[in-house]
Amino acid sequence: MKRIYEPAAYASQQGCWWAETTPQPDWPVLPGSTTTDVAIVGGGFTGLSAALHLANAGVQVTLLEAETPGFGASGRNGGFCCLGGAKAPRALLRRRFGDAGLAEWHMAERAAVDLVADLLSTHNIDADTHSNGETILAHTPRAMAGLRAEADQIAQDFGVTPTLIKAKDLRAYGLGGTFHGGLTIPIGFALNPRKYHSGVAAAAQKAGAALHAQSAVKALRQDGDRTILTTPQGNVSARRVILATNGYSSEDVPDWLRSRTLPVQSSVLVTRPLEPAEQEAQGWTSDQMAYDTRTLLHYFRRLPDNRFLFGMRGGLRATPRAEAAIRRRIRVEFNAMFPAWSKIEITHDWSGLVCLMANLTPFAGPVPALPGVFAGLGYHGNGVAMATLTGRILADLVRGQDPKSPYPMAMQAPPGRFPLGRYRRLLLAPAYVAAGLLDR
Ligand SMILES: Cc1cc2nc3c(=O)[nH]c(=O)nc-3n(C[C@H](O)[C@H](O)[C@H](O)COP(=O)(O)OP(=O)(O)OC[C@H]3O[C@@H](n4cnc5c(N)ncnc54)[C@H](O)[C@@H]3O)c2cc1C
Repeated sequence: MKRIYEPAAYASQQGCWWAETTPQPDWPVLPGSTTTDVAIVGGGFTGLSAALHLANAGVQVTLLEAETPGFGASGRNGGFCCLGGAKAPRALLRRRFGDAGLAEWHMAERAAVDLVADLLSTHNIDADTHSNGETILAHTPRAMAGLRAEADQIAQDFGVTPTLIKAKDLRAYGLGGTFHGGLTIPIGFALNPRKYHSGVAAAAQKAGAALHAQSAVKALRQDGDRTILTTPQGNVSARRVILATNGYSSEDVPDWLRSRTLPVQSSVLVTRPLEPAEQEAQGWTSDQMAYDTRTLLHYFRRLPDNRFLFGMRGGLRATPRAEAAIRRRIRVEFNAMFPAWSKIEITHDWSGLVCLMANLTPFAGPVPALPGVFAGLGYHGNGVAMATLTGRILADLVRGQDPKSPYPMAMQAPPGRFPLGRYRRLLLAPAYVAAGLLDR
């Protein structure tokens, strides 16, 4: 598989806190050759949600994961189950898809969060959920003025009543830091992504899906009306295929993916559990999930065991030097935002790949020129909910049915290619500089 980062970006999730919170499921390696109705490439939320919904509909499904269960972003994210999934701003979505298209997109965002809540409850998955919606915290007074306008827009888009919080009231809400006010959107919740992942996987297996780990698809070849997927141990002949590889996509499995995704590293740290006095000292006593208004945003929340999770953009490269640099940088930015915790020990840190698309919207649909092959990817770092919805949409599409969930136009346009080919991550350096200047 050809990929655009150094091998370390695709290595195991050393240091990931979630791995210690729940046992890893044991999926067998694909044993030899088999046939199936639908083969799924990638065992994250997209692939698992597709597998579960297909198996529930009585379809024979075989999922192939290259590494271990939850290896990709689904096993190492911040656990914010929230609105989002596109990078295109409202105005651009409206220009491209009209008012109706924009409204459909918002319906999909909302349906995605509801779908995760529904899966947790239907399958009795205990994923340590907390937080009543999410809070956006202003990093400048000007950003706070922007949040006031955003509150009206959110009310209009989602029919909910967001809460504006003045700077002087933040501590009373338990959201003390270097912020200039906030806005709480009462949609979404936080979860332990590993527990959610394992729960959906168990439900899919119970419904009859065959899940395989250490079974990397090395090649895809069309043979009449079927597709043959080759792994190191064997092959699968499938009537339909779903590509669910997101930020861990290669350039050549299949070739169609070449330059159509831009994987970007995101980094996370987790502290040791904070004592109540330490939480008071910072004024952060809330279990609300939050992020700031910067373009290069930070996301953070107190976990149920009083550890604190803090994430931000990762390094441009995955060399040992670049990784050490990003580790230092995340500590500096954490300390600047939460000065009372500048000496608190960080027990875990890790990185993972999110997936950007050239047209700034996710894709769910048939792959042009590859009959029977579908893809779902490109959630721009917001895929806990949106990947789950995409898997459900794909489960309908591969059966030739109209999706029962909202399937907005914004997700239907096949993704274009990024410029610069295999060097396209060079696009990130100037983008980060520009965003850093905007964030001042
Ligand atoms: C550090 C970090 C923090 C994040 N925080 C949040 C958050 O708080 N909220 C949120 O909504 N989103 C967040 N995200 C994004 C979210 O995790 C992803 O959008 C989502 O998990 C994508 O799911 P997926 O199933 O599409 O892809 P992944 O979970 O990345 O799974 C893709 C899988 O495909 C496998 N694969 C690749 N190629 C092959 C092949 N040839 N054969 C077989 N298998 C293959 C990979 O091994 C991988 O396991 C975060 C991401 C990261 C990295």
